Amino acid sequence: MLNRFFGQKPQEEPKSESIVTQERVGGDSMSDPNSNPFKSSLSRTRKLFGRISESFVKQTPITDDLWDDLEEALLSADVGPGTSTWLIERLRQRVVEEQMRNTSQVQDAMREELTKLLGKSSGLRFATKSPLTVILVIGVNGSGKTTSIAKMAYRLSRENHRVILAAADTFRAAAIDQLKVWGERVGVPVISQNPGSDPGSVVYDAIQAASTRGSDVLIVDTAGRLHTKYNLMEELKKINKVIQKLLPDGPHELLMVIDATTGQNALLQARKFAEDIGLTGVIITKLDSTAKGGFAFAVADDLGVPIKFIGTGEKVENLTPFDPQSFVAALLAQD
Ligand code: GDP
Ligand code: GDP
Ligand code: MG
Repeated sequence: MLNRFFGQKPQEEPKSESIVTQERVGGDSMSDPNSNPFKSSLSRTRKLFGRISESFVKQTPITDDLWDDLEEALLSADVGPGTSTWLIERLRQRVVEEQMRNTSQVQDAMREELTKLLGKSSGLRFATKSPLTVILVIGVNGSGKTTSIAKMAYRLSRENHRVILAAADTFRAAAIDQLKVWGERVGVPVISQNPGSDPGSVVYDAIQAASTRGSDVLIVDTAGRLHTKYNLMEELKKINKVIQKLLPDGPHELLMVIDATTGQNALLQARKFAEDIGLTGVIITKLDSTAKGGFAFAVADDLGVPIKFIGTGEKVENLTPFDPQSFVAALLAQD
């Protein structure tokens, strides 16, 4: 079981999915473009992706200029050099193999490849062997961990889950208070101890509390940075150990929150975490406040774990289950 969290990338399919994520934003809603929830929240990124669509209109037949234009447009939307280069190469290869003649065929192929890059739509994974699902949330300070936890708690409560939160970011007093404020706002209990206390101990208490209160989902907030003499990774492993002592199949999700506005730099750190503790998914925040939504492709390509949610604002409702098809459709729509 340790392997799942210390080394290997999780390959399992989600065993059961949240109702939230089953209400797919694709499907029927695709026929009514106004109902695509990504369209308005991604308005900044959509402007940059508009340049991609222009590239296809400007060049018919397929010329070298098309590839140059495309690459530039992808890079400016923060798709990242590695992923952009791969994508262009893949498209050039398909043009030859499939004997494409015009740019609209390339555009269709690009839509397919972009969607594939994002992987399958994946809801939260719930515990099947224990009555409690534990979701451990990690990420650097300021990435939006606490806000995203509140948003998830809000969504899950509305799906009739009994949610409880653990304030295991004990390094900053303000972090504990902030989680408590959110807990009150969304109406879920928050288990905390004094600032500076052992995060493992907070999580232990929280699992006990979940059992006495009959909660079925525990979401754990963690520190993004520690005093230099402590090692963040060690602390996360310790928290993991406490969870596994009480719930051998937990944590059921280990989600990293990544701020889209920090772009490619954030990926380096995320990759390190993905390798060391084995993420099960990511939440990309602040896609409303940046034009760099192409970052999502770099994240999915690089980390190889599903994007579970995207954050599109500071309000509690601003968390959208991620759906690759709708995301790509919103970015490449021409209206
Ligand atoms: P933490 O340090 O990782 O726990 O981050 P916080 O949850 O405290 O969030 C840091 C800041 O980012 C806060 O001001 C949040 O309101 C803001 N924030 C979080 N998610 C989003 C988002 O999706 N969009 C926008 N615009 N702001 C966000
Ligand atoms: P440590 O290395 O001795 O700190 O222990 P662990 O890493 O196993 O657990 C971290 C913290 O979780 C401990 O300091 C305790 O506060 C709490 N904890 C873990 N296991 C138990 C237990 O069996 N009983 C109680 N009361 N607390 C525990
Ligand atoms: Mg926080």
